[in-house]
Amino acid sequence: MTAPRIVYLNGEFLPFAEARVPIMDRGFLFADGIYEVSAVIDGRLVDNAAHLARLDRSLGEIGIRNPHDAQSWERLQTELVARNGVTEGLVYMQVTRGVAERDFAFPKAGTEPTVMMFTQAKTVLANPLAETGARVVTVEDLRWKRRDIKSVALLAQVLAKQQAAEAGVAEAWMVEDGAVTEGSSSTAFIVSRERVLVTRPLSTALLPGITRASVLRLAAEADLRIEERLIPVAEAYEAQEAFYTSASAFVMPVVEIDGRAIGEGRPGPLTRRLRELYIEAARQG
Ligand code: PMP
Repeated sequence: MTAPRIVYLNGEFLPFAEARVPIMDRGFLFADGIYEVSAVIDGRLVDNAAHLARLDRSLGEIGIRNPHDAQSWERLQTELVARNGVTEGLVYMQVTRGVAERDFAFPKAGTEPTVMMFTQAKTVLANPLAETGARVVTVEDLRWKRRDIKSVALLAQVLAKQQAAEAGVAEAWMVEDGAVTEGSSSTAFIVSRERVLVTRPLSTALLPGITRASVLRLAAEADLRIEERLIPVAEAYEAQEAFYTSASAFVMPVVEIDGRAIGEGRPGPLTRRLRELYIEAARQG
């Protein structure tokens, strides 16, 4: 028999079926909470300090007290990964404003945040999609104006990803005013006709991707030309290469956007190199 899946809930490591959250949890009623995802490879957390820093910032932006400092978060994550025997996959963390009678405004002081974590075993490194390259479709960006906060309110992204699924492709790139904001669960990059690596600058219009930051650092170290500016959809169609980044996809080549082949219709050389550099850096911790 395989060992039962263990999750973390409010200070306890519990079998999956025993981890219950009351229906008055504000995460359930209002999506009043924050989440984070860190990848695990070779049994170790990837870019975790940066994910925990973003968790702390997101919580601060919506006035939820961070229940743990980075050190204790990491201790809990590491224990959960070990208890589930995950060598490759991800750790999901979520903090909501807690349980209180339904009322939009914050509950009275003393309401404890609900803290939850689970792991998913998943192929990250030898992902076959990274070999073939992903196809994407563009969709309208329907989200609110504080996309820099990693909120669990993900309905627009759910609908975007469903449009991608119905089109038979891996990801949706969300578009606002004719430019790509980001993927439904990833950061969008292109390599322009001038062989410049282009991604949108950080603002409240998109999530500050942790993988984005690492890839930009690696690209700068490799002396690649980088521009942080808007990516018009028309330019994306004509790009030499395209890819998206996220904690679980790492650097994912894009070979088709809205049915138009990108470059040669195969993962581009620069994209492949950045994926290799990212994996190397992740392995070194
Ligand atoms: N943008 C959005 C909207 C996302 O959901 C994600 C994944 N959480 C990303 C970008 C990529 O961020 P990261 O590299 O930190 O996973």
